[in-house]
Amino acid sequence: MPEHKIFVLDDESEIGEYICAVARMNDFDSRYFSDAEEFLAALVVSPATCVAIDLQMPGLDGIEVLRRLSALQFRSPILIMSGMDLKVLESARHFAKAHRLAVSDIIPKPVRVEELGRAFARLKSSDRLPPSKTDFVNAMAAGEFVLYLQPKARISLEPVGSGRYVPLGFEGLARWNSPSRGLTMPDAFIPQIHALGLSPQFCDHIFDLALATLKRWKESGVRANLAINMSASDVEDITLADRLWDQCARSGVNHQSMTIEITESAAMEHPERALDVLTRLRLRGFSLSLDDFGTGYSSLVQLQRLPFAELKIDRSLVSDCRSSEQSRIIVKAIIDLAHALGLAVVAEGVEDEETLDLLRGWSCDIVQGYLLARPLPPDLAEKWWREHGGAVS
Ligand code: C2E
Ligand code: CA
Ligand code: CA
Repeated sequence: MPEHKIFVLDDESEIGEYICAVARMNDFDSRYFSDAEEFLAALVVSPATCVAIDLQMPGLDGIEVLRRLSALQFRSPILIMSGMDLKVLESARHFAKAHRLAVSDIIPKPVRVEELGRAFARLKSSDRLPPSKTDFVNAMAAGEFVLYLQPKARISLEPVGSGRYVPLGFEGLARWNSPSRGLTMPDAFIPQIHALGLSPQFCDHIFDLALATLKRWKESGVRANLAINMSASDVEDITLADRLWDQCARSGVNHQSMTIEITESAAMEHPERALDVLTRLRLRGFSLSLDDFGTGYSSLVQLQRLPFAELKIDRSLVSDCRSSEQSRIIVKAIIDLAHALGLAVVAEGVEDEETLDLLRGWSCDIVQGYLLARPLPPDLAEKWWREHGGAVS
């Protein structure tokens, strides 16, 4: 099955169909549109990995289509075709650039098969196409995903060791270290992994990375807890708890060193199913943390039924504490509520001393954020741990 899909927009059907045929010869799935509105509507429903558009069309012209693509935040490559002179084509390229659109090639009409073939070849070899299923599967096999580690620390009332907090462990945050794309952040690849149906494989892969980290720490004497993130689809899998527990047992890692962070919205998407899966995880001895709290709309009754040990207040609320009285009221209320329900509270996104002092005053238990450290590559995380008085054996 072709991995990439191109949408072709041209008011002349013979030309549009011809481009689609050349695209298929180059392993692209293709779809032809003669109407710009239909083309734009289709893009919203089913994202194409690239588009080819004719600049001169009756009705919506090519420039207006570019403007609308920009409004849709379309970031994939665009092939522009036109019978107009080069000067017009160049100004279209400038217009696209100013609107943050990625024009990969400009093809003068009449379109020649060799030229089009070369444009498709360039597209396939460029890294501007979104990664395909094969790209992700290969990246996992090649070990290109890495867990960066960001410290979580208990706020101490008295100054202890080097500072005002005691290191408890780390949160593992996925990074894709791709030789061709560079270091890529999770917000740029997690949605794509999900859309391609690869979430279960990715979850297993992250879990393997977490196990490897815990094993390495065991050997080097670092006694830290490790938290990993899971998506909504992961907590729908009824076999999750048994699978994770088996993997821990097989690799000789104490599963009690592991915390699983699940966002409020993931836990609330299918509350009944989540209750089942989360309870099994809890019964198996994994610690559960409710992530990004304050961004969703969970009912407190449901929250109380779910077996979380920890609640993480979303960083957007925490970072507003310094400037907004309303955020201070909300954060303080969440801390009191969580404590009343027997949950430990983590404030994430703590960036300055002032916020740390406010949180200490409200008896917040744990902090995480740039004030302590940014997410660190594994070797620097170990160094940070030792330098900040983390437990070692
Ligand atoms: P999250 O779980 O809420 O992770 C915290 C995010 O906040 C991280 O972004 C971290 O770098 C950032 N952050 C930490 N401290 C501060 C701070 O003081 N200020 C600011 N402005 N930001 C701070 P990152 O690493 O880009 O991760 C984004 C999201 O991607 C995560 O949000 C998590 O939902 C998801 N994610 C990361 N790794 C995985 C994974 O392995 N699996 C799954 N399913 N999701 C993951
Ligand atoms: Ca998290
Ligand atoms: Ca979070």
